Amino acid sequence: MSARPVLGCIADDFTGATDLANNLVRSGMRTVQTIGVPADAAAAIDADAIVVALKSRTIPAEQAVEQSLAALRWLQSQGVEQIYFKYCSTFDSTPQGNIGPVTDALLDALQGPGQGFTIVCPAFPENQRTVFKGHLFVGDQLLSDSGMRQHPLTPMTDANLVRVMQSQTRRPVGLVSYDTVRLGASAISERFAALQAQGVGVAVVDAITHADLMSIGKALAGMPLVTAGSGIALGLPQNWPSVNARAKAHALPAATGLRAVVSGSCSQATNTQVLHFRQQGHPAFAVDPLAIAAGDDVVALALAWARPLLPQGPVLVYATAESAAVQAVQAQLGVARAGALVEQTLSRIAVGLVDSGVQQLVVAGGETSGAVVQALGVQRMAIGPQIDPGVPWTAVQSAQWPDKTLHLALKSGNFGSADFFTKAFMLLQEPS
Ligand code: ADP
Repeated sequence: MSARPVLGCIADDFTGATDLANNLVRSGMRTVQTIGVPADAAAAIDADAIVVALKSRTIPAEQAVEQSLAALRWLQSQGVEQIYFKYCSTFDSTPQGNIGPVTDALLDALQGPGQGFTIVCPAFPENQRTVFKGHLFVGDQLLSDSGMRQHPLTPMTDANLVRVMQSQTRRPVGLVSYDTVRLGASAISERFAALQAQGVGVAVVDAITHADLMSIGKALAGMPLVTAGSGIALGLPQNWPSVNARAKAHALPAATGLRAVVSGSCSQATNTQVLHFRQQGHPAFAVDPLAIAAGDDVVALALAWARPLLPQGPVLVYATAESAAVQAVQAQLGVARAGALVEQTLSRIAVGLVDSGVQQLVVAGGETSGAVVQALGVQRMAIGPQIDPGVPWTAVQSAQWPDKTLHLALKSGNFGSADFFTKAFMLLQEPS
Protein backbone atom coordinates (compact mmCIF):
# COMPACT_ATOMS: atom_id res chain seq x y z
CA MET A 1 0.00 0.00 0.00
CA SER A 2 1.54 3.33 -0.93
CA ALA A 3 1.18 6.23 1.43
CA ARG A 4 2.32 9.80 1.75
CA PRO A 5 5.33 10.20 4.04
CA VAL A 6 4.36 11.77 7.38
CA LEU A 7 7.79 12.37 8.90
CA GLY A 8 10.56 14.26 7.12
CA CYS A 9 14.04 14.07 8.63
CA ILE A 10 17.19 16.07 8.02
CA ALA A 11 20.34 14.40 9.36
CA ASP A 12 23.62 16.29 9.71
CA ASP A 13 25.80 13.32 8.75
CA PHE A 14 25.45 10.04 6.92
CA THR A 15 25.96 7.53 9.72
CA GLY A 16 23.58 9.57 11.84
CA ALA A 17 21.00 9.38 9.08
CA THR A 18 21.28 5.62 8.95
CA ASP A 19 21.08 5.38 12.74
CA LEU A 20 17.85 7.40 12.63
CA ALA A 21 16.42 5.38 9.74
CA ASN A 22 17.26 2.21 11.67
CA ASN A 23 15.23 3.37 14.67
CA LEU A 24 12.29 4.41 12.49
CA VAL A 25 12.28 1.02 10.75
CA ARG A 26 12.42 -0.74 14.13
CA SER A 27 9.37 1.26 15.20
CA GLY A 28 7.40 0.20 12.15
CA MET A 29 7.93 3.09 9.74
CA ARG A 30 8.92 2.18 6.22
CA THR A 31 11.87 4.47 5.72
CA VAL A 32 13.83 5.65 2.72
CA GLN A 33 17.12 7.46 3.14
CA THR A 34 18.34 9.80 0.44
CA ILE A 35 21.92 10.93 0.10
CA GLY A 36 21.66 14.70 -0.12
CA VAL A 37 18.57 16.53 -1.31
CA PRO A 38 17.14 14.69 -4.33
CA ALA A 39 17.39 16.72 -7.51
CA ASP A 40 13.95 15.60 -8.61
CA ALA A 41 11.40 17.75 -6.77
CA ALA A 42 8.49 15.69 -8.04
CA ALA A 43 9.86 12.25 -7.06
CA ALA A 44 7.14 10.42 -5.18
CA ILE A 45 8.60 8.43 -2.32
CA ASP A 46 6.58 5.46 -1.15
CA ALA A 47 7.48 5.41 2.55
CA ASP A 48 6.24 6.59 5.93
CA ALA A 49 9.42 8.48 6.74
CA ILE A 50 12.14 10.01 4.63
CA VAL A 51 15.60 10.75 5.96
CA VAL A 52 17.64 13.23 3.94
CA ALA A 53 21.30 12.63 4.78
CA LEU A 54 23.43 15.75 4.63
CA LYS A 55 27.10 16.13 5.49
CA SER A 56 26.61 19.43 7.27
CA ARG A 57 27.96 18.81 10.75
CA THR A 58 31.30 20.55 10.38
CA ILE A 59 30.91 22.73 7.28
CA PRO A 60 30.55 26.53 7.72
CA ALA A 61 27.26 27.35 9.49
CA GLU A 62 25.80 29.35 6.55
CA GLN A 63 26.25 26.37 4.24
CA ALA A 64 24.71 24.01 6.80
CA VAL A 65 21.72 26.35 7.06
CA GLU A 66 21.39 26.62 3.27
CA GLN A 67 21.50 22.84 2.78
CA SER A 68 19.09 22.18 5.66
CA LEU A 69 16.59 24.68 4.25
CA ALA A 70 16.85 23.04 0.82
CA ALA A 71 16.12 19.68 2.49
CA LEU A 72 13.18 21.24 4.33
CA ARG A 73 11.68 22.58 1.10
CA TRP A 74 12.02 19.19 -0.61
CA LEU A 75 10.48 17.37 2.36
CA GLN A 76 7.63 19.87 2.42
CA SER A 77 7.05 19.14 -1.27
CA GLN A 78 6.57 15.50 -0.21
CA GLY A 79 3.77 16.60 2.11
CA VAL A 80 5.33 15.54 5.43
CA GLU A 81 3.57 16.57 8.65
CA GLN A 82 6.57 16.90 10.97
CA ILE A 83 10.24 17.78 10.50
CA TYR A 84 12.99 16.05 12.52
CA PHE A 85 16.47 17.57 12.60
CA LYS A 86 18.84 14.79 13.64
CA TYR A 87 22.29 15.35 15.13
CA CYS A 88 24.71 13.08 16.95
CA SER A 89 23.87 11.55 20.33
CA THR A 90 27.07 13.16 21.60
CA PHE A 91 25.83 16.56 20.33
CA ASP A 92 28.85 16.92 18.03
CA SER A 93 29.18 20.58 17.16
CA THR A 94 31.71 23.39 17.10
CA PRO A 95 31.39 26.70 18.99
CA GLN A 96 29.87 28.13 15.76
CA GLY A 97 27.28 25.40 15.50
CA ASN A 98 25.90 23.93 13.44
CA ILE A 99 23.08 22.63 15.62
CA GLY A 100 21.95 26.06 16.86
CA PRO A 101 22.03 27.95 13.55
CA VAL A 102 20.25 25.13 11.69
CA THR A 103 17.59 24.86 14.43
CA ASP A 104 17.02 28.63 14.26
CA ALA A 105 16.73 28.60 10.48
CA LEU A 106 14.29 25.66 10.44
CA LEU A 107 12.12 27.22 13.16
CA ASP A 108 12.17 30.58 11.36
CA ALA A 109 11.05 28.86 8.14
CA LEU A 110 8.39 26.71 9.78
CA GLN A 111 6.99 29.00 12.44
CA GLY A 112 8.10 32.54 11.56
CA PRO A 113 11.27 34.56 12.27
CA GLY A 114 12.15 34.32 15.97
CA GLN A 115 8.93 32.37 16.62
CA GLY A 116 8.08 28.81 17.48
CA PHE A 117 9.30 26.17 19.87
CA THR A 118 11.29 22.96 19.67
CA ILE A 119 13.27 20.56 21.80
CA VAL A 120 16.87 19.39 22.06
CA CYS A 121 17.30 15.76 23.13
CA PRO A 122 20.31 13.66 22.09
CA ALA A 123 19.37 10.91 24.59
CA PHE A 124 19.51 7.28 23.39
CA PRO A 125 19.58 5.19 26.58
CA GLU A 126 19.96 1.88 24.70
CA ASN A 127 23.24 3.31 23.39
CA GLN A 128 24.34 4.68 26.77
CA ARG A 129 23.46 8.30 25.99
CA THR A 130 21.33 9.89 28.70
CA VAL A 131 20.45 13.45 29.64
CA PHE A 132 19.91 14.42 33.27
CA LYS A 133 19.45 17.98 34.56
CA GLY A 134 20.41 19.08 31.07
CA HIS A 135 23.76 17.28 31.25
CA LEU A 136 24.68 14.70 28.61
CA PHE A 137 26.21 11.42 29.80
CA VAL A 138 28.10 8.90 27.68
CA GLY A 139 27.84 5.71 29.71
CA ASP A 140 28.82 6.67 33.25
CA GLN A 141 30.78 9.74 32.21
CA LEU A 142 29.79 13.31 31.53
CA LEU A 143 30.20 14.10 27.82
CA SER A 144 33.08 16.42 28.74
CA ASP A 145 34.94 13.57 30.49
CA SER A 146 34.36 11.09 27.65
CA GLY A 147 36.49 10.45 24.59
CA MET A 148 34.51 13.23 22.86
CA ARG A 149 36.87 15.65 24.62
CA GLN A 150 39.49 14.73 22.03
CA HIS A 151 37.37 14.40 18.89
CA PRO A 152 39.43 15.51 15.86
CA LEU A 153 36.74 17.84 14.46
CA THR A 154 34.17 18.51 17.19
CA PRO A 155 35.77 18.26 20.64
CA MET A 156 33.01 18.48 23.27
CA THR A 157 34.31 20.02 26.49
CA ASP A 158 31.01 21.04 28.13
CA ALA A 159 28.29 18.51 29.09
CA ASN A 160 25.72 21.18 29.99
CA LEU A 161 23.48 21.18 26.92
CA VAL A 162 21.52 24.25 27.99
CA ARG A 163 24.78 26.20 28.01
CA VAL A 164 26.11 24.60 24.81
CA MET A 165 22.87 25.19 22.91
CA GLN A 166 22.51 28.74 24.26
CA SER A 167 25.94 29.56 22.82
CA GLN A 168 24.68 28.50 19.36
CA THR A 169 21.08 29.72 19.10
CA ARG A 170 19.46 33.15 19.12
CA ARG A 171 16.44 31.75 20.96
CA PRO A 172 16.28 31.51 24.77
CA VAL A 173 17.03 27.94 25.90
CA GLY A 174 15.14 26.24 28.76
CA LEU A 175 15.04 22.82 30.41
CA VAL A 176 12.42 20.13 30.89
CA SER A 177 14.05 18.32 33.78
CA TYR A 178 13.61 14.73 34.84
CA ASP A 179 11.18 15.70 37.62
CA THR A 180 8.72 16.50 34.83
CA VAL A 181 9.70 13.85 32.28
CA ARG A 182 9.10 10.98 34.72
CA LEU A 183 5.51 12.15 35.16
CA GLY A 184 4.70 11.33 31.54
CA ALA A 185 3.48 12.91 28.32
CA SER A 186 0.84 15.28 29.72
CA ALA A 187 3.24 16.79 32.26
CA ILE A 188 5.86 17.20 29.52
CA SER A 189 3.33 18.93 27.22
CA GLU A 190 2.31 21.29 30.02
CA ARG A 191 5.94 22.15 30.68
CA PHE A 192 6.46 22.84 26.95
CA ALA A 193 3.54 25.28 27.06
CA ALA A 194 4.81 26.96 30.23
CA LEU A 195 8.30 27.40 28.82
CA GLN A 196 6.91 28.78 25.58
CA ALA A 197 4.81 31.27 27.55
CA GLN A 198 8.04 32.41 29.23
CA GLY A 199 9.57 33.09 25.80
CA VAL A 200 11.74 29.98 25.63
CA GLY A 201 12.24 28.81 22.02
CA VAL A 202 14.34 25.69 22.58
CA ALA A 203 13.98 23.27 25.49
CA VAL A 204 16.59 20.69 26.42
CA VAL A 205 14.68 17.60 27.60
CA ASP A 206 16.05 15.08 30.11
CA ALA A 207 15.68 11.36 29.30
CA ILE A 208 17.34 8.39 30.99
CA THR A 209 15.20 5.39 29.99
CA HIS A 210 13.50 4.02 26.92
CA ALA A 211 10.14 4.74 28.59
CA ASP A 212 11.13 8.41 28.79
CA LEU A 213 11.63 8.46 25.01
CA MET A 214 8.10 7.11 24.59
CA SER A 215 6.58 9.77 26.90
CA ILE A 216 8.52 12.56 25.22
CA GLY A 217 7.58 11.19 21.79
CA LYS A 218 3.92 11.35 22.66
CA ALA A 219 4.28 14.93 23.88
CA LEU A 220 5.85 15.86 20.53
CA ALA A 221 2.70 15.05 18.52
CA GLY A 222 1.95 17.97 16.24
CA MET A 223 5.14 19.91 17.01
CA PRO A 224 6.29 21.23 13.62
CA LEU A 225 10.01 20.73 14.34
CA VAL A 226 11.76 18.18 16.56
CA THR A 227 15.55 18.33 17.02
CA ALA A 228 17.15 15.27 18.57
CA GLY A 229 19.56 12.37 18.32
CA SER A 230 18.12 9.17 16.92
CA GLY A 231 16.59 7.96 20.21
CA ILE A 232 13.54 10.20 20.17
CA ALA A 233 12.59 8.61 16.84
CA LEU A 234 11.55 5.50 18.80
CA GLY A 235 8.81 7.52 20.48
CA LEU A 236 7.35 9.28 17.44
CA PRO A 237 5.67 6.55 15.32
CA GLN A 238 3.02 6.01 18.04
CA ASN A 239 1.61 9.39 16.99
CA TRP A 240 0.59 7.88 13.64
CA PRO A 241 -1.25 4.69 14.66
CA SER A 242 -2.05 3.62 11.10
CA VAL A 243 1.64 3.77 10.18
CA ASN A 244 2.81 2.04 13.32
CA ALA A 245 0.52 -0.94 12.68
CA ARG A 246 2.68 -1.95 9.70
CA ALA A 247 5.73 -2.90 11.76
CA LYS A 248 7.82 -5.17 9.52
CA ALA A 249 11.56 -5.72 9.57
CA HIS A 250 13.21 -4.88 6.31
CA ALA A 251 14.70 -7.78 4.41
CA LEU A 252 17.59 -6.97 2.10
CA PRO A 253 18.65 -8.81 -1.06
CA ALA A 254 21.14 -11.65 -0.40
CA ALA A 255 24.71 -10.46 0.07
CA THR A 256 27.32 -11.45 -2.49
CA GLY A 257 30.84 -10.35 -3.38
CA LEU A 258 33.99 -9.70 -1.37
CA ARG A 259 34.19 -8.06 2.07
CA ALA A 260 36.13 -5.07 3.40
CA VAL A 261 36.22 -2.48 6.16
CA VAL A 262 37.38 1.12 5.67
CA SER A 263 37.91 3.03 8.90
CA GLY A 264 38.63 6.74 9.30
CA SER A 265 37.19 7.07 12.79
CA CYS A 266 39.57 7.80 15.66
CA SER A 267 36.95 7.33 18.36
CA GLN A 268 37.75 5.04 21.27
CA ALA A 269 35.25 2.38 20.22
CA THR A 270 36.72 2.25 16.70
CA ASN A 271 40.27 1.99 18.04
CA THR A 272 39.13 -1.04 20.05
CA GLN A 273 37.36 -2.54 17.01
CA VAL A 274 40.42 -2.11 14.78
CA LEU A 275 42.61 -3.75 17.41
CA HIS A 276 40.15 -6.62 17.85
CA PHE A 277 39.93 -7.23 14.10
CA ARG A 278 43.72 -7.34 13.81
CA GLN A 279 44.03 -9.59 16.85
CA GLN A 280 41.64 -12.02 15.16
CA GLY A 281 44.30 -12.37 12.48
CA HIS A 282 42.49 -10.48 9.73
CA PRO A 283 44.72 -8.47 7.38
CA ALA A 284 44.91 -4.72 7.99
CA PHE A 285 46.57 -1.85 6.13
CA ALA A 286 47.37 1.37 8.04
CA VAL A 287 47.01 4.62 6.11
CA ASP A 288 49.54 7.24 7.25
CA PRO A 289 48.22 10.82 6.81
CA LEU A 290 51.78 12.19 6.64
CA ALA A 291 52.56 9.84 3.74
CA ILE A 292 49.49 11.16 1.89
CA ALA A 293 50.62 14.74 2.54
CA ALA A 294 54.11 13.87 1.30
CA GLY A 295 52.59 12.80 -2.03
CA ASP A 296 52.84 9.01 -1.75
CA ASP A 297 50.22 7.17 -3.82
CA VAL A 298 48.63 5.61 -0.75
CA VAL A 299 45.49 4.66 -2.69
CA ALA A 300 47.45 2.54 -5.16
CA LEU A 301 49.54 0.99 -2.38
CA ALA A 302 46.47 0.05 -0.31
CA LEU A 303 44.66 -1.47 -3.30
CA ALA A 304 47.69 -3.41 -4.46
CA TRP A 305 47.96 -4.79 -0.92
CA ALA A 306 44.24 -5.63 -0.67
CA ARG A 307 43.52 -7.29 -4.02
CA PRO A 308 45.32 -10.60 -3.48
CA LEU A 309 43.97 -10.89 0.10
CA LEU A 310 40.29 -10.15 -0.58
CA PRO A 311 39.31 -13.63 -1.83
CA GLN A 312 40.39 -15.10 1.55
CA GLY A 313 38.13 -12.96 3.72
CA PRO A 314 37.53 -9.42 4.94
CA VAL A 315 40.37 -6.89 4.91
CA LEU A 316 40.66 -3.63 6.81
CA VAL A 317 42.11 -0.35 5.57
CA TYR A 318 42.34 2.16 8.41
CA ALA A 319 43.58 5.61 9.37
CA THR A 320 42.23 5.06 12.87
CA ALA A 321 44.75 6.17 15.48
CA GLU A 322 44.92 7.08 19.16
CA SER A 323 44.43 10.74 20.09
CA ALA A 324 48.14 11.50 20.62
CA ALA A 325 48.95 10.35 17.08
CA VAL A 326 45.99 12.28 15.64
CA GLN A 327 47.10 15.43 17.43
CA ALA A 328 50.65 15.05 16.14
CA VAL A 329 49.32 14.77 12.56
CA GLN A 330 46.98 17.71 13.06
CA ALA A 331 49.83 19.84 14.45
CA GLN A 332 51.73 19.26 11.20
CA LEU A 333 48.90 19.42 8.66
CA GLY A 334 46.13 21.38 10.38
CA VAL A 335 42.87 19.79 11.56
CA ALA A 336 40.84 20.44 8.42
CA ARG A 337 43.57 19.43 5.97
CA ALA A 338 44.39 16.23 7.85
CA GLY A 339 40.68 15.31 7.93
CA ALA A 340 40.15 16.09 4.25
CA LEU A 341 43.27 14.23 3.07
CA VAL A 342 42.34 11.10 5.00
CA GLU A 343 38.69 11.24 3.91
CA GLN A 344 39.64 11.66 0.22
CA THR A 345 42.14 8.85 0.39
CA LEU A 346 39.83 6.42 2.17
CA SER A 347 36.95 7.17 -0.17
CA ARG A 348 39.12 6.57 -3.24
CA ILE A 349 40.27 3.30 -1.66
CA ALA A 350 36.61 2.34 -1.08
CA VAL A 351 35.85 2.95 -4.77
CA GLY A 352 38.88 0.86 -5.73
CA LEU A 353 37.77 -1.94 -3.43
CA VAL A 354 34.31 -2.04 -5.02
CA ASP A 355 35.94 -2.04 -8.45
CA SER A 356 37.95 -5.04 -7.20
CA GLY A 357 34.81 -7.01 -6.33
CA VAL A 358 33.92 -5.84 -2.81
CA GLN A 359 30.14 -5.78 -2.34
CA GLN A 360 29.97 -5.91 1.46
CA LEU A 361 31.59 -2.81 2.90
CA VAL A 362 31.70 -1.55 6.47
CA VAL A 363 32.73 2.10 6.87
CA ALA A 364 33.69 3.44 10.30
CA GLY A 365 33.39 7.17 11.01
CA GLY A 366 30.64 9.68 10.37
CA GLU A 367 32.62 12.08 8.21
CA THR A 368 34.42 9.19 6.61
CA SER A 369 31.13 7.50 5.72
CA GLY A 370 29.88 10.72 4.19
CA ALA A 371 32.93 10.94 1.97
CA VAL A 372 32.73 7.25 0.98
CA VAL A 373 29.02 7.33 0.18
CA GLN A 374 29.52 10.41 -2.01
CA ALA A 375 32.47 8.81 -3.81
CA LEU A 376 30.47 5.64 -4.41
CA GLY A 377 27.67 7.70 -5.98
CA VAL A 378 25.01 6.31 -3.64
CA GLN A 379 21.68 8.10 -3.96
CA ARG A 380 19.22 6.06 -1.91
CA MET A 381 19.53 3.27 0.61
CA ALA A 382 17.10 0.64 1.88
CA ILE A 383 17.48 -0.02 5.59
CA GLY A 384 17.99 -3.62 6.70
CA PRO A 385 18.83 -5.57 9.87
CA GLN A 386 20.60 -3.97 12.80
CA ILE A 387 24.18 -5.04 13.56
CA ASP A 388 24.44 -3.10 16.82
CA PRO A 389 22.22 -0.31 18.15
CA GLY A 390 22.32 2.54 15.67
CA VAL A 391 24.03 0.61 12.87
CA PRO A 392 22.01 -1.37 10.30
CA TRP A 393 23.15 -3.01 7.12
CA THR A 394 21.77 -1.19 4.10
CA ALA A 395 21.41 -2.13 0.45
CA VAL A 396 22.28 0.51 -2.10
CA GLN A 397 22.36 0.92 -5.82
CA SER A 398 24.89 3.16 -7.48
CA ALA A 399 24.89 4.42 -11.05
CA GLN A 400 28.60 3.54 -11.16
CA TRP A 401 27.86 -0.19 -10.72
CA PRO A 402 24.33 -0.53 -12.12
CA ASP A 403 24.37 -4.35 -12.14
CA LYS A 404 25.55 -4.76 -8.54
CA THR A 405 23.81 -4.55 -5.21
CA LEU A 406 26.18 -3.17 -2.64
CA HIS A 407 25.69 -3.85 1.07
CA LEU A 408 26.95 -0.95 3.15
CA ALA A 409 27.15 -0.52 6.91
CA LEU A 410 27.99 3.00 8.06
CA LYS A 411 29.21 3.04 11.64
CA SER A 412 29.39 6.21 13.64
CA GLY A 413 32.64 6.43 15.61
CA ASN A 414 31.55 5.51 19.09
CA PHE A 415 29.03 2.86 18.11
CA GLY A 416 29.39 -0.90 18.10
CA SER A 417 30.91 -3.64 20.26
CA ALA A 418 34.60 -4.59 20.10
CA ASP A 419 33.91 -7.40 17.59
CA PHE A 420 31.74 -5.16 15.40
CA PHE A 421 33.63 -5.70 12.14
CA THR A 422 33.56 -9.51 12.23
CA LYS A 423 30.05 -9.58 13.67
CA ALA A 424 28.76 -7.41 10.84
CA PHE A 425 29.87 -9.86 8.15
CA MET A 426 28.54 -12.84 10.08
CA LEU A 427 25.10 -11.23 10.31
CA LEU A 428 25.03 -10.74 6.56
CA GLN A 429 25.78 -14.42 5.92
CA GLU A 430 22.78 -15.52 8.00
CA PRO A 431 19.60 -16.34 6.09
CA SER A 432 17.07 -13.59 6.82
P1 ADP B 1 33.88 9.61 14.08
O1 ADP B 1 32.55 9.06 13.65
O2 ADP B 1 34.66 8.70 14.98
O3 ADP B 1 33.76 11.01 14.61
P2 ADP B 1 34.75 10.74 11.59
O4 ADP B 1 35.04 10.01 10.32
O5 ADP B 1 33.47 11.53 11.67
O6 ADP B 1 34.81 9.68 12.77
O7 ADP B 1 35.88 11.78 11.94
C1 ADP B 1 37.22 11.41 12.02
C2 ADP B 1 38.05 12.47 11.29
O8 ADP B 1 39.40 12.24 11.62
C3 ADP B 1 37.91 12.37 9.78
O9 ADP B 1 37.92 13.67 9.22
C4 ADP B 1 39.19 11.62 9.39
O10 ADP B 1 39.60 11.90 8.07
C5 ADP B 1 40.17 12.15 10.41
N1 ADP B 1 41.27 11.21 10.66
C6 ADP B 1 41.23 9.87 10.58
N2 ADP B 1 42.40 9.34 10.88
C7 ADP B 1 43.22 10.36 11.18
C8 ADP B 1 44.58 10.44 11.60
N3 ADP B 1 45.32 9.33 11.76
N4 ADP B 1 45.09 11.66 11.81
C9 ADP B 1 44.34 12.78 11.67
N5 ADP B 1 43.05 12.77 11.29
C10 ADP B 1 42.49 11.58 11.04
